Amino acid sequence: MDNPAWLRILPSMENDLIIVGGGLNGPALALAAAQAGFSVTIIDSLPLDTRKRVDFDGRSYALAHASMRLLRGIGIWDGIAKNAQPMLEIKVTDGRAGEGPSPWMMHFDHAEIEEEPMGYLVEDRHLRRAFLDAMAESHKITHLSGETVVAQTHNTAGVTVTLASGAQITGRLLVGCDGRKSGTAERAGIKRTGWGYGQTAVVCAVSHERPHDGIAHQFFMPSGPLAILPLTKNRSSIVWSETDARAAALIAMNDDDFLEALRPAFGSFLGQISLTGARFSYPLGLTLANSFIADRLALVGDAAHGVHPIAGQGLNAGLRDVAALAHVLEESRGRGEDIGSAQTLARYQEWRRFDTTTLALATDTFNRLFSNDNPLLRAARDVGMGMVNAAPGLRRGFIRRAAGLTGDLPRLMQG
Ligand SMILES: Cc1cc2nc3c(=O)[nH]c(=O)nc-3n(C[C@H](O)[C@H](O)[C@H](O)COP(=O)(O)OP(=O)(O)OC[C@H]3O[C@@H](n4cnc5c(N)ncnc54)[C@H](O)[C@@H]3O)c2cc1C
Repeated sequence: MDNPAWLRILPSMENDLIIVGGGLNGPALALAAAQAGFSVTIIDSLPLDTRKRVDFDGRSYALAHASMRLLRGIGIWDGIAKNAQPMLEIKVTDGRAGEGPSPWMMHFDHAEIEEEPMGYLVEDRHLRRAFLDAMAESHKITHLSGETVVAQTHNTAGVTVTLASGAQITGRLLVGCDGRKSGTAERAGIKRTGWGYGQTAVVCAVSHERPHDGIAHQFFMPSGPLAILPLTKNRSSIVWSETDARAAALIAMNDDDFLEALRPAFGSFLGQISLTGARFSYPLGLTLANSFIADRLALVGDAAHGVHPIAGQGLNAGLRDVAALAHVLEESRGRGEDIGSAQTLARYQEWRRFDTTTLALATDTFNRLFSNDNPLLRAARDVGMGMVNAAPGLRRGFIRRAAGLTGDLPRLMQG
């Protein structure tokens, strides 16, 4: 249901959940909660027309196997599957594409684990569309787009948010899915820890002559990693992290000059390449909320933890928050507890905070270790990669982690 006319007439509406932010984690949580029988209002500042635009965001996501299970569990995977590229192998190297395999490369093959592909590459436009369509069909979800939350209050019974339009909405639990600069967290007095990397990711898609065979490549360059991720139909998504100045120059180039700059890093292993759309840039940084909960409030996704895309895990971590929160809320209701109570929220935070803080620190360390040309560090990381690659147990551990299959899995991710 989109922006009902009565929104401006009624002074308030009652919900189980109020979700601020309709990016990716917000809609996933709305659908998971609605499926469990909770009533939800989800609010996003962006107008629906912008969100439906095909070129709105050039990103593609490497979705882990466990994230696919969540999307299947909330009923949207069947619609996405035809546009999803299975990720069968990952090759990580200090060398460059087209220069032959480095003796130090790490090679992860899905055949080493029982579950099918370790993940899928899905374009933002397909994922976004599937979320919007599914939310519009759910009678448990009210979706308000083009509306901004400007204030929030709580009492022992519930929470109230105020929109810029003046309308007020009440509920039992407020969930901030409003991204890295979460106003929901800020208004609740939750501080953040973080820093910038002085790097910007340049993102685009290319088509190429030769098939990628479902292999994702990660090349470590001195100024930042270059990821070449397989998309459907002989296309690949590029996530090229560079220094801010170099990234600005790459974005300013015309298409031919950009391809000239990309080719030496990309190599020739996929034959001729050409751009298939626009280029986008994303400044990179780390941001961690010092708490994932407050009174009648939970933070989910980038609002709780925004990490470096080096391992393609940001959205996967957010979807795990979604699955964990949905699990905790259902359990809470089953026990007759208040879903906004301190005990309920503490269980969510306990489940997710350690895991995501570890991920944030690991991506931070990897980026520092690999984004430089120091010969000592280069030697150390090459030996490290060689050791992981030579140890089947370690390799399988990495594959299961990349597939999101380690740790305590919430119900929606158990398959
Ligand atoms: C270059 C790059 C590549 C990446 N690749 C991967 C990958 O391969 N795999 C992966 O798992 N992750 C990846 N990520 C991470 C992933 O993109 C993010 O983790 C994910 O998009 C976060 O989604 P979100 O819904 O939490 O936040 P966002 O997408 O930031 O959504 C927040 C929403 O909140 C809304 N909002 C904010 N304030 C208000 C307000 N006051 N009122 C109403 N609405 C509000 C905004 O309009 C926005 O729509 C990548 C990130 C980058 C930068």
